Amino acid sequence: MQHLIHSIGIVSSPYTQKFGIPRQPQLVPAAKICITLNPEFSMDCVRGLDGFDYIWVQFLFHDAISEGWSEMVRPPRLGGKKKMGVFATRSPHRPNHIGLSLLQLEYVDNLNGRVQIWCNGGDLLDGTPVLDIKPYIPFVEAKPDAQAGFVSGAPEQLAIEWQPESGVTNLSIEIRNLIEQSLAQDPRPAYQNIPERVYGMEIAGLDVKFRIVDNTVLVLSCK
Ligand code: SAH
Repeated sequence: MQHLIHSIGIVSSPYTQKFGIPRQPQLVPAAKICITLNPEFSMDCVRGLDGFDYIWVQFLFHDAISEGWSEMVRPPRLGGKKKMGVFATRSPHRPNHIGLSLLQLEYVDNLNGRVQIWCNGGDLLDGTPVLDIKPYIPFVEAKPDAQAGFVSGAPEQLAIEWQPESGVTNLSIEIRNLIEQSLAQDPRPAYQNIPERVYGMEIAGLDVKFRIVDNTVLVLSCK
């Protein structure tokens, strides 16, 4: 069956490139995003939403569409060594390129007649098209004792060490938290462990350079 769908809005996010985006929502609480709905959606469309702590956001992995999809993918949680069926993973490289994130709802407001939905803990690229939004209903959806296949527990976090001259003193506490929480997720591809390699990540308009030695991120510069 074919059915054409249109996005209902667009995401503004501090993550302006794919490298370094957390691999799931909530891992970086400081990642504040805003969903701006298209002009045809009035405040009536979100009446009652602000009573919910969390919302489900369905979106298009728009920046992965040109990369196609695979039947089997290598989840980062398996160190990039083992393959799993695409439908057993959260990979962006799936047939319809549809993503699903549970985001913490901060507040809903209105800017020049456009509905804005502000959330924490985003794992979305700037410019992501949003397909749908639904409230999270804990008594139906929370299953804390459920088995989670090969995804056991939260991933390990790296320690952060700002190097002298890194520019950390010029940063606001919000931006500093965002950078630290993002880097602690270990943005490297799963199979890479090259201590001398310098990585660059674009975040909140900054270019952050770092190396990872053992379990510590050495932040070299931030411009
Ligand atoms: N919570 C979602 C996303 C899991 S994959 C889900 O389960 O469906 C997470 C990765 O998606 C991130 O690390 C980021 O690199 C990638 N991503 C986020 N937004 C994207 C977009 N608009 N296009 C392509 N990839 C995106």
